[in-house]
Amino acid sequence: MELDLDRQEHGRSEIDIDGTLALDLGEGTPETIALNGQLVVQNLESRFLLNGTLRAVGRAQCWRCLGDFELQWEVPVEIMVLRNVDTDEQESETLLILQRRGVVELHESLRECAVLAYPQSPVCSSGCQGLCATCGVDLNRESCACRQEDYDPRWEGLPG
Ligand SMILES: [Zn+2]
Ligand SMILES: [Zn+2]
Repeated sequence: MELDLDRQEHGRSEIDIDGTLALDLGEGTPETIALNGQLVVQNLESRFLLNGTLRAVGRAQCWRCLGDFELQWEVPVEIMVLRNVDTDEQESETLLILQRRGVVELHESLRECAVLAYPQSPVCSSGCQGLCATCGVDLNRESCACRQEDYDPRWEGLPG
């Protein structure tokens, strides 16, 4: 996951991203993720623009049932490498790397993109039933007696 500034073709080319990195966002989030896909590189002499959408995959915890599952999410990437390292340029949307020549290590910037795109409350499937709020049973696997209490008792005793 690096970009060799001295060996990039002029104009537009593509680089393959295929690697793993530590995400480390806290409990329930993937420790490490696999990141892969393609980025378009535009070599504009004084700057390099990297653009594209990568795919991240990692083991995460479902917010509803707390089970482990393979979470996938899309990671939009927009990175600019400025060769004028004395610049005070600020781009709000774009990650900036200042480096004149040689190999740029993209690890940290790609991690930042993956963190920004991390889903808010990932669930193992859209139909996940979650855990029973009363007894804690995983409602995807078994049912429990507590569910009866979902019925509104006010209906009971009404004439039929
Ligand atoms: Zn779940
Ligand atoms: Zn229950």
